[in-house]
Amino acid sequence: MTFATTILTLYPEMFPGPLGASIAGRALREGRWALEAMQIRDFATDKHRSVDDTPAGGGAGMVMRADVIAAALDSVAGARPVLAMTPRGTPLTQARVRALAAGPGVTILCGRFEGIDERLFEARQIEQVSVGDYILSGGEMAALTLLDACIRLLPGVMGAASSGDDESFETGLLEYPQYTRPVEWEGRTIPEVLRSGDHARIAAWRKQQAEVDTRSRRPDLWERHEDARVQSPSGARRQNRNE
Ligand code: SAH
Repeated sequence: MTFATTILTLYPEMFPGPLGASIAGRALREGRWALEAMQIRDFATDKHRSVDDTPAGGGAGMVMRADVIAAALDSVAGARPVLAMTPRGTPLTQARVRALAAGPGVTILCGRFEGIDERLFEARQIEQVSVGDYILSGGEMAALTLLDACIRLLPGVMGAASSGDDESFETGLLEYPQYTRPVEWEGRTIPEVLRSGDHARIAAWRKQQAEVDTRSRRPDLWERHEDARVQSPSGARRQNRNE
């Protein structure tokens, strides 16, 4: 099944952009996903083809018009989740990416200027998604990020089918650190355990490193991981034994 994507944007020329290269590009050519980039301006009705206007209540910049964007959205066929990229949205997670990648595709609305008239979000079923606590100049980069995260999970896209399972966030933890040859570089050697060939020891070391790194780098993730463990029956038993 093809993962169908429609992007509503003022800059359709930005797509597929970097998603035309590497594994996403090959997957696009193989028809594993499909892309339609729609120009929002084509749905403007006045003679200046305007898509924005000054903010109600005053202030800097311009705001995208609900009527024009709704006309563009309503023209998109097919029952797929509609996402709007906005710093006011729910932060994107690997779990959400997985769920989206398992579905029929996505329609993504890319904002520009100061954002989009709020009434659009009241009048249409739209999931507001943020890619992080910083401000981009437009939603296009955010949409490319979300699409890249989904596309690599589509069947047949990643080289080794299993290479996704261990990765950061899949287990609720950051991934363990990686090493490769040369064995010695600038006086530093690859940790001995990774050269031991002892798969059980390697697995135990990786698990421990993942925990240590998550705890120090991402206390927020660690706390959530621990909460989940305590709530699961096996986790609760483990906890009691340790008390
Ligand atoms: N004035 C807005 C920011 C507008 S930035 C505010 O302060 O909330 C212009 C557009 O860039 C947004 O409409 C959105 O589509 C996109 N954008 C910027 N930062 C983003 C982020 N962190 N996640 C997703 N989209 C973002």
